[in-house]
Amino acid sequence: MLETIHALKVQNSFAELPAAFYTRLSPQPLTEPRLLHAQRDVAALLGLSPNVFADPAFLDVCSGSVPLPGGTTLAAVYSGHQFGIWAGQLGDGRAHLLGEVSAPSGSWELQLKGSGRTPYSRMGDGRAVLRSSVREYLASAAMAGLGIPTTHALALVVSDDPVYRETVETAAVVTRVAPSFIRFGSFEHWSRSPENLRALFNYVTDRFYPECRAAGSAEEEVVLAVLRTVVGRTARLVADWQTVGFCHGVMNTDNMSILGLTMDYGPFGFMDGFQVNHVCNHSDTQGRYAWNAQPSVAHWNLYRLASALMGLGLEADALKGQLEHFEAEFLQAYRGNLCRKMGFRQWEEGDDELVDDWWRLLHTQAADFTLCFRGLAQAPVRREPWLAYFKERATADMWLGRYMERLSRDQRPDQERIEQMNGANPVYVLRNHLAQTAIEAAAQGDTGEIDTLLDLLRNPFIERQGYEAYAAAPPDWACSLEVSCSS
Ligand code: AMP
Ligand code: MG
Repeated sequence: MLETIHALKVQNSFAELPAAFYTRLSPQPLTEPRLLHAQRDVAALLGLSPNVFADPAFLDVCSGSVPLPGGTTLAAVYSGHQFGIWAGQLGDGRAHLLGEVSAPSGSWELQLKGSGRTPYSRMGDGRAVLRSSVREYLASAAMAGLGIPTTHALALVVSDDPVYRETVETAAVVTRVAPSFIRFGSFEHWSRSPENLRALFNYVTDRFYPECRAAGSAEEEVVLAVLRTVVGRTARLVADWQTVGFCHGVMNTDNMSILGLTMDYGPFGFMDGFQVNHVCNHSDTQGRYAWNAQPSVAHWNLYRLASALMGLGLEADALKGQLEHFEAEFLQAYRGNLCRKMGFRQWEEGDDELVDDWWRLLHTQAADFTLCFRGLAQAPVRREPWLAYFKERATADMWLGRYMERLSRDQRPDQERIEQMNGANPVYVLRNHLAQTAIEAAAQGDTGEIDTLLDLLRNPFIERQGYEAYAAAPPDWACSLEVSCSS
């Protein structure tokens, strides 16, 4: 383990792309920045010892005061469709890529978010508030703990600098870590500039999808193979979101990772009481990004990516052909996840209906997503505690009867089934009210709640004594919590 951030092996291959892809510039330093928190397991990905957190050089880099030694600091340009409408040029309006670290675990880009204005800031101030930064910081760890692909968060730096949103808040910078932050919107940006589009495509393919470049294959075949891979990754990602009750909130094409990672955490939410059409983003008045819309939105976004790739001279039909794999990829992943969550040996005929009725049951009673799934493992053995999650127990009991009939066909020992289910149904998810409590404490400089939450969320399938409140449905005060695009 490296004992100083200076020992990292750093370069920035993104900076070798044509100059039009980015602007080299320094972050705008915060006033008296403080390291509020850092994550040892993310540091470990980079090969860094947690001892570096106490080193002033670590704060210097993570606050944007000093460049990452060996890196090239830049803001990248991209475009995108926002809420279904072409928004034209966007870009890193408040993010700075610092460089790329080669570690035994792979190659990782370090990027600051909230680090000041760039040529792509438009009307924005280049800042991020503490509230949204704590949420991203915790959510990245929660997703990783659930085994869902995500960008990571290494450090959370705060300052008393004021940031003006609906009220005056304070500034924070999150150091994000991912193999790449390239988005669907990065491709859309160059859809009418074949040379740059090709440069971007080759860069992504060489680094992340080399297996798509079989010896001697024509460019067209490589493009189709890469698109096919991104279709698969995106479909599996959204299947993972659906089956933990996660709503992204802003599935604009500029927030869709070309690597199939959950990225750009904003007004996301893990559902408490289940509603199929739950909209976590208060600003999404049309409900475009409702829970039940996420799979079709992902498919629509892949269409936008495919359209951009037409700029490489491919026929629309050939590209469209790859998109047709989306549904099968999604269903396979979705059923696979539900199979484990329901404790079945394998997916059988009739299971789709049983699960549809399960969603209907949860929806009509607004029953708690996480508690109902987790409790289901024990329900056939002890039904009372599970039935207590429902307002109309009789309806829940009827569904349970059908479920137990289905289980009996598997002829599986309870213990084996329960173990499988407990490994697939988390006890702890980052409920809004838990994040809110951690934010309020953090605003007072108290990181105890962040520590507790990270501890639970990193191993969310293991139930801990004494932490019942963290597994429970939200208390009454939390019912009025709202999250919006404001961040
Ligand atoms: P989002 O949908 O939050 O991922 O952001 C959409 C676009 O707005 C991206 O180009 C962001 O970089 C930019 N943006 C969001 N908030 C700010 C801000 N406070 N200052 C500058 N740019 C921002
Ligand atoms: Mg974004």
